[in-house]
Amino acid sequence: MMDYRAEAQALRERLVAWRRDFHRHPEVGYEVHRTAGIIADVLRGLGLEVQTGVGQTGVVGILEGAADGDTVLWRSDMDALPIQEENDTDYVSSYAGKMHACGHDGHMAIALGAATLLSQQREHIKGRVKFVFQPAEEMGAGGALAMIRDGVLDDPEPDVSFGLHLWNTLPLGQVGISSGAIMAGSSFFNLRVRGLAGHAAMPHTTIDPVACAGQLISALHTIVGRKMDAMAGAVVLSVTSVETSSHAYNAIPAYVTIGGTFRSFNAYTSEMLEQHIRSVAVSVCESVGCEVDIHIRHPNIPVVNDAGVVRRLRRAFAQIVGADHIVDERTMASEDIAYILEDVPGAYFFLGTANPAKGLTYAHHHPRYDFDEDALATGVALACRAIGDYVFD
Ligand SMILES: [Zn+2]
Ligand SMILES: [Zn+2]
Repeated sequence: MMDYRAEAQALRERLVAWRRDFHRHPEVGYEVHRTAGIIADVLRGLGLEVQTGVGQTGVVGILEGAADGDTVLWRSDMDALPIQEENDTDYVSSYAGKMHACGHDGHMAIALGAATLLSQQREHIKGRVKFVFQPAEEMGAGGALAMIRDGVLDDPEPDVSFGLHLWNTLPLGQVGISSGAIMAGSSFFNLRVRGLAGHAAMPHTTIDPVACAGQLISALHTIVGRKMDAMAGAVVLSVTSVETSSHAYNAIPAYVTIGGTFRSFNAYTSEMLEQHIRSVAVSVCESVGCEVDIHIRHPNIPVVNDAGVVRRLRRAFAQIVGADHIVDERTMASEDIAYILEDVPGAYFFLGTANPAKGLTYAHHHPRYDFDEDALATGVALACRAIGDYVFD
């Protein structure tokens, strides 16, 4: 068996160079053309069979082993966020208003590092490894589903799927892995409260959607605490935007739009939340004579890890980071790898990257987010160890 830690450590300089290049050139959503081009070139250089344009701009590299065996899928995302970076490192984003603020630049470096090391072991591989680089993970943009529609889970069909997220709520070097639902399904709601516009000095001649929206926001915030079974698992509802149709101080607007999100770990709870939001919106609005248009969509289902795979990975990872560095981790954040894991059993896990001594503690999606690059080599070792558990004897 290869010494994954030492081999990954020897790659450190290349990992950092890849990560910083991606960080300087962040691309958002499906517009990851430069990023995908570099990834395809590296994978071809390693001798992998490369498909591009999968799910618009996704890239797949297949590392074919010397004998038959399992097909293992490793997924990395590629997209950045529409955020203006506020760091002043020498690898700061060179594109205005765009930033790798979630660590996906690191995910790509790790996947390329694992492809590099495993391609050197090709003659010992039984089966094959499918390295999947996905666009449009952020903001419910549907990149995983786009790649699935384009056949990323067919021909060859994976037997097991993996991925990791660098995680700034865990200290550097810790691995967070749990079985069952580990990341929430997320839904977005948009409620347009329609009244009757008019002069603010004569509110009795209007139907005021602002007053109604105020009541509705309060009522929405009581759903989780008063309507949901406390034993039904973690659930959250947040109102995140309120907008009136006019902005004059002396006019009652025609309508107010309320936006927000709700998240839970199972489809039944999500269904219950949706029903409560609909009935609360209709009854509050009706009580004051307003009407309401309700739009709810469900961009992400929960990420569910396979218990058997997690047991196997916990044992394998203990050899890389030590059993005392492996913790349980679940989050109300969402990830569309959920759709891959819905079809192919596997595991998604978190690798700690926070380092307070270097000031690297900002949350994901913060304009000053950054992570400790010492995590990159550990990520490569973990990826190779996870994949190796299925393709090496
Ligand atoms: Zn993110
Ligand atoms: Zn992310």
